[in-house]
Amino acid sequence: MNLEKIMSDLEKKNPGEVEFLQAVREVLESIQDVYNENPHFESANIIERIIEPDRVLMFKVSWVDDSGKVHVNRGYRIQFNNAIGPYKGGLRFHPSVNLSILKFLGFEQIFKNSLTTLPMGGAKGGSDFDPKGKSNAEIMRFCQGFMLELWKLIGPETDVPAGDIGVGGREIGFLYGMYKKLARENSGVLTGKGLNWGGSLIRPEATGFGAVYFAKEMLATKGETFKGKTVCISGFGNVAWGAALKATELGAKVVTISGPDGYIYDQDGISGEKIDYLLELRASNQDIVKPYSYEFPGAQFHQGKRPWEVKCDIALPCATQNELGKEDARTLVTNGVQCVAEGANMPSTPEAIEVFLENKILFAPGKAVNAGGVATSGLEMSQNSMKLSWPLKEVDERLHHIMCSIHDQCVKHGKGKDGYVNYVKGANVAGFLKVANAMIDQGII
Ligand code: NDP
Repeated sequence: MNLEKIMSDLEKKNPGEVEFLQAVREVLESIQDVYNENPHFESANIIERIIEPDRVLMFKVSWVDDSGKVHVNRGYRIQFNNAIGPYKGGLRFHPSVNLSILKFLGFEQIFKNSLTTLPMGGAKGGSDFDPKGKSNAEIMRFCQGFMLELWKLIGPETDVPAGDIGVGGREIGFLYGMYKKLARENSGVLTGKGLNWGGSLIRPEATGFGAVYFAKEMLATKGETFKGKTVCISGFGNVAWGAALKATELGAKVVTISGPDGYIYDQDGISGEKIDYLLELRASNQDIVKPYSYEFPGAQFHQGKRPWEVKCDIALPCATQNELGKEDARTLVTNGVQCVAEGANMPSTPEAIEVFLENKILFAPGKAVNAGGVATSGLEMSQNSMKLSWPLKEVDERLHHIMCSIHDQCVKHGKGKDGYVNYVKGANVAGFLKVANAMIDQGII
């Protein structure tokens, strides 16, 4: 594989798409050896075919706010690869959304979905719409406008979107209502649905729970557990709250959460009624981080800072991409961090990952650690197809089993001669092999 040539061609074709190029480079670097050992990949030109999305839909969403003002946002759906199953991946509503970010997320999703052991292809979508500060009615009108375009492209057997940043249960509800009306069907076309209308138990907390199950397996390779450990978490969204809940349940103390404006340090631990309080704020669309420090006087708010300066045993970045840089990684290592498991997608910069790997820290990438979310979405799709609803215990056990299986795949493909597991390599190789072989089986299409 001529990595530099591939990357320079890709850059010419996709100028300025920094996040997408970063994600592709990371995958290609890790799969180089296995790719070179299998000449049939090269003869089928797998790399060029896998880094080009199957299709990209970009559309206009016009909507009216409560004062009567008309707004225009841009909507997207990237259907990246469906070699192993229907396209599957979340929708992100955030002002930072652009083609590069969604292409990076869609590309990552191919390998993540492959790791889950379930038949799901990779996709991603969203809009630069900002749900923050909008009324329920405004969010509903935007979601309806968004679905008016998207519905033509998706379906329970073709493409099944879900939530991501800015898209939770409320938005999925509005999107689903509009899809149902347009398509005239009640089907599992979206996941993350409400429990009363086709949703799965555990789905809201699945990504965070799965991340902690994965980190538990990482720690077990060193004979360690969560019990008595100090945990730093960033963000406090869909992923972070599930992670905080499960880490606490396993006997750890979570001492930080964060938002774009800074982080909270609470040495007494963020658990129980404190998490309930945060979830209430979140549900009412309010700022979370600052009010926490007023409500619980033991806690300190650190304006404009990231939680990685706090001494901890386990770090779970659960907010957004590139939120943990080289200096943060160095500080974590100096402070004795044992395990870094990415709840978010690509939260660590390539330079930060290098620091973790050089120091032989247990480090695992988002596509393995946070795959529990999409895996449980896959379980929701199965339940919808069968018109059944599995009990909580069954979904949780399946999720746990899937996370252990992802961990096993990472160890199988990532363990070096010295016994150190490079989870980045393990996840990329395992995810790639399945998709690449499926593409070869299905011919040039
Ligand atoms: P949410 O929008 O629910 O939560 C994101 C959290 O991060 C919020 O608390 C937000 O604060 C905070 N945040 C946003 N930007 C920053 C920043 N620059 N610095 C610090 N904090 C920030 O999103 P999710 O929890 O759904 O997603 C988080 C990450 O996990 C994303 O990378 C997503 O792609 C990934 N992921 C999500 C899955 C899911 O099931 N939801 C599945 C797999 C991956 P505020 O609300 O104040 O903006």
